[in-house]
Amino acid sequence: MTHSTAPVLVIGAGQAGLSVAHHLVQRGMVPGSDFVIVDRGPGPGGAWQHRWDSLRLGDAHRIADLPDMAAAGVSFADAPTDPPASAVVSDYYGRYERHLDLHVRRPVAVTSVARAADGGFDVTTADAAATFRPRVVVAAVGTWGSPRLPEIPGRDSFRGAQITTPEYRRAEDFAGMRVAVVGGGASALGFLRELDGVASRVTWFTRRPVVFHERDEMLRTELGRASVRLQDDAARAGKPLPSIVSTTGMPMTPPIARMRRAGLLTRVPMFTRLTADGAVLQDGGFEPLDAIIWALGFDADLGPFAPVGLSARDGVRVADGHAVDVPGLFLAGYGPQASTIGADRGGRRTARDVATYLRDGVWPPTPGARRTAAN
Ligand SMILES: Cc1cc2nc3c(=O)[nH]c(=O)nc-3n(C[C@H](O)[C@H](O)[C@H](O)COP(=O)(O)OP(=O)(O)OC[C@H]3O[C@@H](n4cnc5c(N)ncnc54)[C@H](O)[C@@H]3O)c2cc1C
Repeated sequence: MTHSTAPVLVIGAGQAGLSVAHHLVQRGMVPGSDFVIVDRGPGPGGAWQHRWDSLRLGDAHRIADLPDMAAAGVSFADAPTDPPASAVVSDYYGRYERHLDLHVRRPVAVTSVARAADGGFDVTTADAAATFRPRVVVAAVGTWGSPRLPEIPGRDSFRGAQITTPEYRRAEDFAGMRVAVVGGGASALGFLRELDGVASRVTWFTRRPVVFHERDEMLRTELGRASVRLQDDAARAGKPLPSIVSTTGMPMTPPIARMRRAGLLTRVPMFTRLTADGAVLQDGGFEPLDAIIWALGFDADLGPFAPVGLSARDGVRVADGHAVDVPGLFLAGYGPQASTIGADRGGRRTARDVATYLRDGVWPPTPGARRTAAN
């Protein structure tokens, strides 16, 4: 068993955790003694290491560089588009970790984060592999472990296969099947494209019509800003986070335009219930099905934080990357920070606020405040 006395524990080594770690190092903090970073995955790459083999970087998937990534000798600007994205991102993030000497501890799965008597945290891990008693926890846990499932009557009675986005491996697993793809985001569209010609029939269900807009950098920026604002408003109010695609719509990339021309984007309004053999449609019709792929987005993976009162489903009050109601707890990559660009800006601020809180013990961390403030 490992016991760490480092005052800061970063949980998660995806883009959000690595960005915070970079900025902690920039502030002179030493990995291993001033902060420890753990991850439950087997290797580097965050959620990307788990993505299906056919997913490639390129037109539909652009990843911004982590801060000062060039110093590690890599950049996504000229990343190869032939190998699977999972391999490229794992390789690049691994080099970044080594460049920063982070010594990420893995696989270490945090199972519970509770308040300790001294005002810090008691952190327990699966198999009691390690224990941590940090003053500060940075939750950079992402969403991959928490795919959404709908409340739909009859879901348990359906006898076919049901998977969520993280469980998808390859189209061939659905060869010859009648498949429903449910959801209106990038993952759902990718599944529709891959299953075409492999499954015997593919039906696309969404709750609302999906808005496709022509590719335009200004519009993209504007919609991106609007989405970040909505995410930030919800996070500050402690409300569940809104779906990003419902704000931004989908850009009409060349692959999506090809899908539209090929007639693959004919949406059917969400079915009303499931039976053992298929879906009952809104117009009373019936769609026989062998499999359903739920691609309905994700919630923040906050299960281990229930002891300190956090629930992604109910909403968490998060302002400027910190949990308003839980002194010492930061959430990196949550809400408005959930993009590679947001992760960089957020990481810098979180590192500064972590240092301020360690120095002053005042919550929320306020640069310039001192311990005399009531806390
Ligand atoms: C299909 C899909 C495609 C996407 N495409 C793009 C894209 O093209 N470009 C883009 O910018 N964004 C894309 N995104 C969003 C992108 O995935 C996220 O921006 C990014 O992965 C989030 O980074 P993160 O660090 O917040 O979380 P993650 O990458 O999920 O990292 C979180 C890490 O925390 C670890 N962890 C979680 N819980 C625990 C625990 N309890 N104990 C220990 N470790 C834990 C996990 O193992 C993981 O390594 C995509 C998302 C999906 C689902």
